[in-house]
Amino acid sequence: MKENLKFEISYTAYPDSSELPELYQQLIAKAKQATNDSYAPYSNFKVGAAVLLNNGEIILGSNQENASYPLGLCAERTALSAAASLASNEKIKAIAITAKSAKNPVLQPAAPCGICRQVIFEAENKHHQNIEIILTGEQGIVYVFKSIKDLLPLHFDANFL
Ligand SMILES: [Zn+2]
Repeated sequence: MKENLKFEISYTAYPDSSELPELYQQLIAKAKQATNDSYAPYSNFKVGAAVLLNNGEIILGSNQENASYPLGLCAERTALSAAASLASNEKIKAIAITAKSAKNPVLQPAAPCGICRQVIFEAENKHHQNIEIILTGEQGIVYVFKSIKDLLPLHFDANFL
């Protein structure tokens, strides 16, 4: 007998980053700062990510494009790779992601692509700790998710191997 099922996710929407806890306001500010290091001559879509470690350290990443388009790297993965390289034993508490564009202002929260969702999942799994995901655009509304599992309910898990 077939069954129609649903996934239910929950997240918090803040009308503005000023309503977030101060630490997360700071993390968003760092993610915005990271957009300045973006190399996006092709899309002009500059993405910044800031990873907050359990020890309070913040590690930044930005998107890095390439004339051979598929070689481009997303901000989330550059930040997570930097964190894994610079502080491999440190657990990750949160990641803030934002974007800006010279063409069309980014007025909705910037959401990670599917590849990055899987990579964030791996980081959660590796350290056995949920990573809060904080998404925002150039201004206004901010979404906070308690875990990447809310954005990737069916994930590829090491238990499958
Ligand atoms: Zn991505």
